[in-house]
Amino acid sequence: MERVVVIGTGQGGFQLAASLRQEGFTGRITLIGEEPGLPYQRPPLSKDYLKDGNDARLLLRPPDFYEQQRIEIIGSTRVTGIDRTTMEVETGDGARIAYDHLVLATGSRNRIPPIAGLDRPEVLALRTLSDARVLRDRVEHMRRVVVIGGGFIGLEFAAVARARGIEVAIVEGADRLMGRAVAPMTSRHFLDVHRGWGSSVHLGQFAEAVTDAEGSLAVRLRNGSEVSGDTIVLAAGVIANDAIAKEAGLATDDGIVVDDLLRSSDPNISALGDCCRFVEPVSGLVARLESVQAATDHARTIAARLVGQPKPYAAVPWFWSNQGDRKLQIAGYAPDADDWHVAEADGKLTVFCFAGDRLASVETVGNAGAHMAARRIFANAGRVPRKLLETADYDLNAVMA
Ligand code: FAD
Repeated sequence: MERVVVIGTGQGGFQLAASLRQEGFTGRITLIGEEPGLPYQRPPLSKDYLKDGNDARLLLRPPDFYEQQRIEIIGSTRVTGIDRTTMEVETGDGARIAYDHLVLATGSRNRIPPIAGLDRPEVLALRTLSDARVLRDRVEHMRRVVVIGGGFIGLEFAAVARARGIEVAIVEGADRLMGRAVAPMTSRHFLDVHRGWGSSVHLGQFAEAVTDAEGSLAVRLRNGSEVSGDTIVLAAGVIANDAIAKEAGLATDDGIVVDDLLRSSDPNISALGDCCRFVEPVSGLVARLESVQAATDHARTIAARLVGQPKPYAAVPWFWSNQGDRKLQIAGYAPDADDWHVAEADGKLTVFCFAGDRLASVETVGNAGAHMAARRIFANAGRVPRKLLETADYDLNAVMA
């Protein structure tokens, strides 16, 4: 194989290129991305970057890394189509670039909910560095912000805003925070935390319209009430960027469908990270994960295969979210959890999430030791019976012994 082309210069695209070189791939590597500049990390955009504005710290590698590793980056360029017959991608400016293997690392984009009046300059989103720069500038003058969406990104931003003395209202359509991703007890914990910091949290309330209101804006909720702010931050989840894959005839299903080697329905095309749907190996459930861990481990799996050492994807899912001084960490994947065991001591929270008789995930707040232990347990045992936890009195170190 001579030439690997990657669409997307984000977390996964970068890792694929770096891992290919680590694995000894000597051919040509070309990353094409619509964002300008070098690959950077997104997680700090809703956390430290809003405080320090330090662009250099975001970079995944310094500029000379790409020269030394012979990784070609074509930035500010959108890929508009894939020709699977000639094995070429077409860019917005009409160029055609040939590939021997193509990797789709196109990530996801913000979901725009059907809310009237969103097309105002005071309505901001947070996905890219360019979004974060705008938001950071605005944070300096913000007095009251309405955050639409009580997921990770909305809550991380809310914590930063509150710490700066900005009034914060959080509007969430579901009846609990981070409802898609965490246990009810963890949602409750963060509800108390955010309210304790002084944010007003409106649960079970869909935003319906943004309107002008006496020198500021108002968000009208489904129950008819209004919350006002000079800025609206839209953080209502994301959608997989799978359109070019779909148009090229690849199998998609809210994400590009891949097998356990991260191959799409075309063996010359792989997909990774936020844009792909795969069988999560610990739970056995089909998943689309939006995490640095998934993008990175997917990339490593693809790189190993491309140099002739295929190994089925077997990584344990994990995730973190920093909200103010609270660090939430999740090991495992538990959308099907139906029972929970909570352990709370010394300001540390640990929630064991069970799906039937199986430990599906462990959520911790301020308990990095338990998080790391849980990851090791999943890595060693894969399927962890509930009984094992009960016998060990929920002591993760005893489980490992
Ligand atoms: P991305 O990193 O999003 O990269 C995809 C790239 O592809 C983008 O640059 C996009 O512009 C480009 N692209 C798309 N279509 C095309 C096209 N047709 N042509 C050219 N280029 C294209 N994860 C965590 O685990 N922990 C966190 O704390 C955390 N915090 C986050 C905070 C924020 C504000 C955001 C936005 C995300 C956060 N995430 C976090 C999620 C994490 O950053 C993503 O899961 C990860 O970046 C996914 O990597 P990826 O390579 O799949 O996609």
